[in-house]
Amino acid sequence: MEDCLFCKIAAGEISSTKVYEDETVYVFKDINPIAPIHYLLIPKQHICCAAKITEENSSVVAHIFEVAAKIAAAEGLSDGYRIVTNCGANAGQSVFHLHFHMLAGVKMGWGAEVVQSAE
Ligand code: 5GP
Ligand code: ZN
Repeated sequence: MEDCLFCKIAAGEISSTKVYEDETVYVFKDINPIAPIHYLLIPKQHICCAAKITEENSSVVAHIFEVAAKIAAAEGLSDGYRIVTNCGANAGQSVFHLHFHMLAGVKMGWGAEVVQSAE
């Protein structure tokens, strides 16, 4: 898709620090990490967000989770990791190409911080 940052990153048109790549998935380091390990796992095909996962395109999502498990094993993340996707404005999605944040290397709390109540 034209003018999509993550499509351009997946195509190598914009540079990123690659962690993993295969035919359908690209994994790279987040430019503004919020944990010692912060990777972004994306499908190479443009899907705007989790709300647009369908029967036709969901196999790449399963594959992304397989890739995450392989990365975790390869990097020895035996203390755990978190995978999260923000879907839509209230969730804080800022890049509208489906991506899964993989966070590790720190003990994490749990809970949705309320920035501004959604009416
Ligand atoms: P979101 O807020 O949509 O859930 O996550 C978007 C993520 O993409 C953010 O964590 C942000 O730091 C990251 N990001 C935005 N632009 C770039 C970029 O040009 N390169 C990389 N590597 N990460 C980016
Ligand atoms: Zn895209």
